[in-house]
Amino acid sequence: MSARILLLGGTTEALRLARRLSPEAIYSLAGLGRVPDDLPCQVRVGGFGGAEGLARFIREQGIELLLDLTHPYAAQISHNAARAATLSGVPCWALRRPGWQAAEGDDWREVDDWAGLMAALAPFHRPFFTSGREPLAHLHEIPAHQHWTVRCLTAQQGVPRAEVIGARGPFSLDEERALFARIQCDVLVSKNSGSASTEPKLQVARELGLPVLLLRRPQLPTVDREFLEPEALWEAL
Ligand code: NAP
Repeated sequence: MSARILLLGGTTEALRLARRLSPEAIYSLAGLGRVPDDLPCQVRVGGFGGAEGLARFIREQGIELLLDLTHPYAAQISHNAARAATLSGVPCWALRRPGWQAAEGDDWREVDDWAGLMAALAPFHRPFFTSGREPLAHLHEIPAHQHWTVRCLTAQQGVPRAEVIGARGPFSLDEERALFARIQCDVLVSKNSGSASTEPKLQVARELGLPVLLLRRPQLPTVDREFLEPEALWEAL
């Protein structure tokens, strides 16, 4: 496709697509993670200033197609993208990756928010958090009977009853098995991202018979075209 594209990223799929875009295309990142410097397209970093700011950027840059390949839990930017596309009159296409599905023998429990998660975690002793940085803001509230392991993109100093691991996926099955054995967790906490690169932890929880607490997926807006698989989106471009 020859339309001038603005790609909203922050996911593995977005980076893979950015590697195939032409020099006129713009790849946009929030700025929380690593910024690649080896892409064929332009790269910009940082917020736009809400839906109106994004709509202004689209008009100023002559963008003709907006692609939302942000994370399924990054609901704000997806809502901004849908609104900005409407305001500026360009189509918005989105990758809407399906969530993981529980298999035979899985004990998956959905929670709505942090308070619900804490209530569901009360009977456990060694939770393993793989749901992002939110637990880091609560390290001073760890219940007396618990030890936490928190895995997020960047490491930071833990506290006596919490280990913070900085690591980015993909994670292999063997790596996950070794980590679960080392930290001796009795429950896994995750978002339901649906990403293959972080799925092996669910397999390990299944093998060990561990419960999984999943934060419920946020509602995302309907846009002009929605794709369940990145390959289908590549082909449509
Ligand atoms: P969010 O709550 O939906 O967005 C917060 C604000 O960050 C947006 O309003 C926007 O600021 C800015 N923003 C987000 N994505 C952007 C992008 N691709 N380009 C430019 N600005 C962007 O998002 P979040 O949950 O904080 O996630 C931030 C980024 O990390 C997203 O790009 C997402 O794909 C990625 N990510 C998120 C998760 C997760 O679990 N949430 C996991 C992996 C990766 P303005 O309103 O100022 O435009």
